[in-house]
Amino acid sequence: MNKKIVLALGGNALIKEGQKGTIPEQYVNAYKALKHVSELIKRGYKIAITHGNGPQVGAIIIRDEADNTSYDLPLSVAVAQSQGEIGLIITQTLKNQLMTNGINRDVATILTHVVCDKNDPSMKNPTKPIGPFYKTSNTFREKGISFIEDSGRGYRRVVPSPMPLDIIEKETIKLLVDRGVIVVAVGGGGIPVYITKKGKIESIDGVVDKDLASYVLADCIKADQLIILTYVEKVALNFNKPNQKWLDHITVKEAKKYLKEGHFPPGSMEPKIKSAIHFLENGGKRVIITSIDKLPEAMKGKTGTHITSNTFILPRTKFHT
Ligand code: ADP
Ligand code: MG
Repeated sequence: MNKKIVLALGGNALIKEGQKGTIPEQYVNAYKALKHVSELIKRGYKIAITHGNGPQVGAIIIRDEADNTSYDLPLSVAVAQSQGEIGLIITQTLKNQLMTNGINRDVATILTHVVCDKNDPSMKNPTKPIGPFYKTSNTFREKGISFIEDSGRGYRRVVPSPMPLDIIEKETIKLLVDRGVIVVAVGGGGIPVYITKKGKIESIDGVVDKDLASYVLADCIKADQLIILTYVEKVALNFNKPNQKWLDHITVKEAKKYLKEGHFPPGSMEPKIKSAIHFLENGGKRVIITSIDKLPEAMKGKTGTHITSNTFILPRTKFHT
């Protein structure tokens, strides 16, 4: 029984394209996204939920920089704040849905620290886009802030994004998930920290990729499945090109081949595929990448991209539980 799931919520679970992302908007979006998750919980799945924080942590930094009257926020503190904000919206919404359906399961957010390497190459070469898109790069240039042009959609600030290696709270999260608590963890990829020579935990100013952190979590809590919910129903070869081909099922070997061929760009699909490969090579049974609204169908094997370690794929009926 593939009963323990790490479920990664993409940015659009809380903020849809074109929205400002107001708190009421985020609650409405969360309600829709979590309805399908409630169904899985009803069916007895044990679940850890992870999520990104790009727009939210960007907004926290913008507010901080616009204000001179209160103390400054290091990025690590902004990430911690985003875990609180998003954790609040997810736990409250999900708990309400469960109670409405008479399901007595606890939902809890764990402030999560993710261990990274202090000397990760990304510390000197920021790659992770956060915050809103801007039409010009002038303000970034004036203020000396690192930025990129993000897939033809505009300019975005970028921050360091070190590789996650371990999770400080892993035992606690595993204990709770195994007991049936729905745990929201490694929010925004987790608060990046490193361990000093004296064995102390020190914060790093960066934003970890939530898909990579989700794999580390899935590995730590010995999950059976990793489900990554994003904007697209399936992963494609030659994405957005005339010869685009949607993928229903691929093996780890194929995933590695396609990765090498450059089908999955860094910062979007690449971390999802890398996480899938790591997870399956370390005992994970199945990875599904699909969109939030297609989760129920994807669980039945009817859509989504399914990644497994070999070519053996269960008959569709086995996906029902
Ligand atoms: P999330 O917030 O869910 O992590 P991302 O924007 O980081 O979302 O990644 C998902 C996006 O990756 C999709 O919306 C799609 O535009 C893009 N993408 C890039 N390459 C591919 C591909 N080969 N197949 C499908 N989607 C892709
Ligand atoms: Mg992403």
